[in-house]
Amino acid sequence: MIIVMKIGTPEAEIDNLCNDLTNNWGLSPEKIVGRYKVVIGLVGDTADLDPLQLQEMSSWIEQVLRVERPYKRASLEFRHGEASEVVVSTPDGPVSFGHDHPLVVVAGPCSVENEEMIIETAERVKAAGAKFLRGGAYKPRTSPYSFQGHGESALGLLAAAKEKTGLGVITELMDAADLPKLTEVADVVQIGARNMHNFSLLKKVGAQDKPVLLKRGISATIEEWLMAAEYILAAGNPNVILCERGIRTFDRQYARNTLDLSAIPVLRSLTHLPIMIDPSHGTGRAEYVPAMAMAAIAAGTDSLMIEVHPNPAKALSDGPQSLMPDKFDQLMQEMAVIGQTMKRWPQPQPALV
Ligand code: PEP
Ligand code: MN
Repeated sequence: MIIVMKIGTPEAEIDNLCNDLTNNWGLSPEKIVGRYKVVIGLVGDTADLDPLQLQEMSSWIEQVLRVERPYKRASLEFRHGEASEVVVSTPDGPVSFGHDHPLVVVAGPCSVENEEMIIETAERVKAAGAKFLRGGAYKPRTSPYSFQGHGESALGLLAAAKEKTGLGVITELMDAADLPKLTEVADVVQIGARNMHNFSLLKKVGAQDKPVLLKRGISATIEEWLMAAEYILAAGNPNVILCERGIRTFDRQYARNTLDLSAIPVLRSLTHLPIMIDPSHGTGRAEYVPAMAMAAIAAGTDSLMIEVHPNPAKALSDGPQSLMPDKFDQLMQEMAVIGQTMKRWPQPQPALV
């Protein structure tokens, strides 16, 4: 249930109302400050509450509405239709993900392989305009005999690349035990497709402060995905970005997955959370990445994640879907054209004089 306050409601009135809801109604109100209005979210056992009775609590209340969806905090209604912004601190300054912000590009190798390759890739993607470096330290591989990632030492290499370039870092968490050391380096904690249903892990990342990138499960419905986001939000972390990375397909002859670009308008109608598209895992083939990246911008994505490797033929994981840095440069220029048309491309910084 949400209580929508009238524009201009004094802060003291909202605080009094929240205290009343807590002390006299036994509820746990959450104050959500939007651009125009303040909304008070009520989650929990609200089935027996009478909206009309709540409405009478203050003349500053505009409306009391029930959130009918099973995901409450993740729903668009919970923010009264206003998109949320996830602000991530990076060494170069804060970067905002969201519908009202320029598109954010995240790029880097599937796995962190060695110092030279991660630094070289970081420098190249930064020069091309990416704001975040991606790179796996802990890899969720289908086969236990495949390269599993360099683990903790790879986190150290990501830290070095971050220091050298000023890029933010996004890397995947697989085991909650690695959370403290991973969050020393990561600015955004990635939960991979295979762990989208790992509810205990979702609760753990919900109980820490770093923003979370939640990839869609391999065969997850949109509702299951939003319910997974709800776990993180319900545990106290409001900063969740949703990443579509392709869903399992019946035809794997030409593409690894089916990239569900319809998820963009669908999510936009259901949730306030920022959206990211990963055309690399979504197609599994480098040659298809540019077309899908541009289509994603045209469809209104808020951000993109693209795998880039200095030598894809020698990559320890996901070489076939990784772009060479030169191709990534070219793609960034092509994406800028669509991004500008969509009014979502970051303005170039004026040269310092
Ligand atoms: C990744 O981004 O490195 C990854 C493993 O992706 P996904 O979880 O989408 O398969
Ligand atoms: Mn990969």
